[in-house]
Amino acid sequence: MTQTIHIERTTTPKPKPAANELGFGKYFTDHMFILDYEEGKGWHNARIVPYQPISLDPAAKVFHYGQTIFEGLKAYRTENGKISLFRPDMNMKRLNRSNDRMSIPPVDEALGLEALRQLVLIDQDWIPDAPETSLYVRPFVIATEPALGVSPSQQYKFMIILSPVGTYYAEGIKPVSIYVESEYARSVVGGVGHVKTAGNYAAGLKAQEGASALGYSQVLWLDGVHRKYVEEVGSMNVFFRIGDKVITPALTGGLLPGITRDSVIHLLKHWGVEVEERLISIDELVQAQKDGSLKEMFGTGTAAVISPVGSLHWKGEKLMIGDGSTGELSARVYDTITGIQNGRIEDPFSWRVVVE
Ligand SMILES: *Cc1c(COP(=O)(O)O)cnc(C)c1O
Repeated sequence: MTQTIHIERTTTPKPKPAANELGFGKYFTDHMFILDYEEGKGWHNARIVPYQPISLDPAAKVFHYGQTIFEGLKAYRTENGKISLFRPDMNMKRLNRSNDRMSIPPVDEALGLEALRQLVLIDQDWIPDAPETSLYVRPFVIATEPALGVSPSQQYKFMIILSPVGTYYAEGIKPVSIYVESEYARSVVGGVGHVKTAGNYAAGLKAQEGASALGYSQVLWLDGVHRKYVEEVGSMNVFFRIGDKVITPALTGGLLPGITRDSVIHLLKHWGVEVEERLISIDELVQAQKDGSLKEMFGTGTAAVISPVGSLHWKGEKLMIGDGSTGELSARVYDTITGIQNGRIEDPFSWRVVVE
């Protein structure tokens, strides 16, 4: 790391919300991190400043062509009072893979991690300590050059903001019902479905709205070419327990390589569970549901950790997963990963990174 981070502390700290009012991503802490980029000069002026609006030219490229990427991870107050992050190096690596796909210059990963560490420390009083709560960390990059030509921006900002969060699903860890989307597609191989760029989420809202109106909490996305292979559920990776095996869609390029996904695969293999990463079609799933071998299904992601799926809606039919309640393996994975994250249990893979 070659740069020092300049720090300007707030003189007017904000009141902190009550633990039961947190929700997801509604409140922001007292400080934020900013790093500027200019062609020829590189990334410079690393600073932590009071949380505040930023001023951008209306022609800034991010507004017009969506040249932007983001990350998401969490900081936890562990049971011994320390602060920890969960595999933050993986987020910085993925941030740069997203940057590369969107023609954004790479950020120094060591600087990004140091910025994260210092920002979390400065705002550590914002880390809630009630069970299931954490401090959500949102790094992102935006193209700021004021120019309307369609070409990579010559100016960027890399920023990190923090938000204390409660449980992701208002209902808590309870199975959700999912609508299998057959009209809209989220991504195609060769596109940008494998990186965290804003347009993927804007493009998914229409399907999400339709599913919500019908009473489903998320959509299950099928691949954009064959409209047949299962890819993700909402903004989560997805796992199926069929018989004694666990199957998760292979990283074909159409889906996001989740860090929770990777952690779940490691954990299951560590337990001796057979895990297959491969293509899995909706027909195979329906068949497994009909013959009773589809025992469990769950989504994985930083925000929710594990979200069990109780039923799927496909072609006018409601397909129950197992008996519709949280599966035994889903619960064990949830308890173990959250246990590692908040320091309740041993961390055999050294995933926890203590911030001090
Ligand atoms: C972020 C994200 C995930 C989950 O990734 P994690 O690293 O586990 O949080 C899955 N799918 C999509 C589309 C995502 O944006």
